[in-house]
Amino acid sequence: MSEPDDLVVRRPEGLYCPPGGFFIDPWRPVERAVITHAHADHARRGHAAYLATAVSAGVLRARLGPISLQGVAYGEAVSAGGVRVSLHPAGHVLGSAQVRIEHRGRVWVASGDYFASAHEDDRNPTCAPFEPVRCDCFITESTFGLPVYRWRAQRDVLAEVNAWWGGNAEAGRPSLLLAYSFGKAQRLLAGVDASIGPIVVHGAVEPLNEAYRAAGVALPPSRRLDELRGRPELRRALVVAPPGVADSAWARGLGEASDAFASGWMQLRGARRRQGLDRGFALSDHADWPGLQRAIGATGARRVIVTHGYEATLVRWLRQQGLQAESLQTEFGAGPVDAAAGYDVGLAVPGPEGAAGAAGAAGAVQPAA
Ligand SMILES: [Zn+2]
Ligand SMILES: [Zn+2]
Repeated sequence: MSEPDDLVVRRPEGLYCPPGGFFIDPWRPVERAVITHAHADHARRGHAAYLATAVSAGVLRARLGPISLQGVAYGEAVSAGGVRVSLHPAGHVLGSAQVRIEHRGRVWVASGDYFASAHEDDRNPTCAPFEPVRCDCFITESTFGLPVYRWRAQRDVLAEVNAWWGGNAEAGRPSLLLAYSFGKAQRLLAGVDASIGPIVVHGAVEPLNEAYRAAGVALPPSRRLDELRGRPELRRALVVAPPGVADSAWARGLGEASDAFASGWMQLRGARRRQGLDRGFALSDHADWPGLQRAIGATGARRVIVTHGYEATLVRWLRQQGLQAESLQTEFGAGPVDAAAGYDVGLAVPGPEGAAGAAGAAGAVQPAA
């Protein structure tokens, strides 16, 4: 599968660049790690040296504690071994980047996770938008790499969130909106109509909000549940909390609340029904099927390596387009996401039943999506 002079290969520790002597988002401790973004399956503890975007420093430290980090600007090239390395916006979460590697005239790009929409005006307002980077080989994620995943315009989804929240506020019940604490929560906060009522966030969300605000991202004021508990304003509140708190004592402390989950997984009615939630809002920080196709096409790459998600389906489609395509097993998107910190666990959302070529994801904890 890999070829002798590949610029990125798989090693037991993770994806490795042989001429550069560094790993990309390694899953075991290494000397030199280039980190695409601060989600727990991509940014892990224990590496001797980290390189990431300067704008992600706050969220990385909020999640990993003190680390030896070299922060670079988007597009700033550094040399590592015999290669030039630069980071380019991925549009996924604050500071997220694609890694561009240039060696003796050849260019490879490893995407990390990215949000690229087929809707012209859709972008994640909390981070720099995805920028296609021309390359010979593109390593792409495929979290939502099935034709059933087609996002509606986020403006329309956010209008539904506002209507649900407004209706609950009128009826005098809190709106519990479950969302991954890093990325999705901030994107929702930036997009909702804060004039409807107060916004309360779970303790797992607020440190990330602070890191976003420190990086210059405008978010509406958010309060802690303790400040509003037992007060009438709570009944007009939007309460944003990680999915793991569903059915917890914390959530029961809200009293009679309407609950909803905001995630790309909510696109499928079956997934919504299995959660037993009042509502599901399909809002994702990953590219949908048309977004993946468009982003891959814009790189001009003749070779594509597909990682974490629905690899087989995307590889088959890419080959039909005449591209050289293969899948590569990684440990991204696997296992409980940051279980130790209590973030982003719970609400296991099985993949679509009977989806063509779908890797069985039943029962697995899904990556932040
Ligand atoms: Zn991610
Ligand atoms: Zn990922």
